[in-house]
Parts: sequence; structure tokens; C-alpha cells
Amino acid sequence: MAKRTASPSIETSTTWEDAGYDCDHCGGRILRRIDRETGLRDRTCFQCEQCRCQWTLERRPLRVGTTAACRAAQRERAAEAEEGTTPYSRWLLIALGVVVLLGLLRFGGGALVRVMLPLLLVALAAAAVWYLGRRNRP
Ligand SMILES: [Zn+2]
Ligand SMILES: [Zn+2]
Repeated sequence: MAKRTASPSIETSTTWEDAGYDCDHCGGRILRRIDRETGLRDRTCFQCEQCRCQWTLERRPLRVGTTAACRAAQRERAAEAEEGTTPYSRWLLIALGVVVLLGLLRFGGGALVRVMLPLLLVALAAAAVWYLGRRNRP
């Protein structure tokens, strides 16, 4: 009579649940995917039924799907993330440019500064309004 050795069997299973909303790339159903593997923690992510994009539960993209809309959305997200992390360096560059410009204008003569300074301030204000408007878009 052969005794069965108790070898640890590794089982994997994947559960799909309807997450309750639609993909903004392709309009497909978003599913909550739960991967279970013996000895490991459950891994949960969102996956689109149609374009197969994957996101973490914090809505960070894990895998980009195959449609053009997926890649476009991914690019937009990357641009937004970049915008969110570098506003200070951007303002620093603008300030630096103004300082350099003012320095050049000083060498160019007082009369030129008097003419250019209001224009420069208006341009700066316009740039600030444009920049803030871009950041606060819906
Ligand atoms: Zn999709
Ligand atoms: Zn997608």
C-alpha cells in the first residue's frame, strides 16, 4: 500500500468580478481580477474585458492594452504625471529666463528697460494665466 506523500500542492486560480464601471478607452466592462496562488498573497487588479488594460486598485496603469485609445490615454496620463511633479522646476526656469532677460535689458540701456518691462510683465501674467488654466482643466 503506497502512502501518499504530503507534497505541498500549488494551486492557482483567478476570480473575475464585475467592478461596476466601464473602460474609458473602449467602453468595455472593467473586471476586478483576483489571482490566488497557494503560499502567496492574493493579487488583485482591474482589467478591461475588451482592451485588456490593467490597473492597480489605486488606478495606476499596470499594463497598456492594444487599442490606439489605450496608448493615447497612457501618454496623457504620463504627461499629467510629469506635469504634477515638475511645476516648481518649470517656474524656476521661467524665473531664470526673466532674470536673464532683465540682465540683458539692463545692459541694453535704461530706456529699453522702461519700454520692455510692462510688455514683459504682461507676457508673464498671460503665461501664468495660461499655465494655471491648463492645470485646472477638467
Ligand atoms: Zn478597455
Ligand atoms: Zn485600454
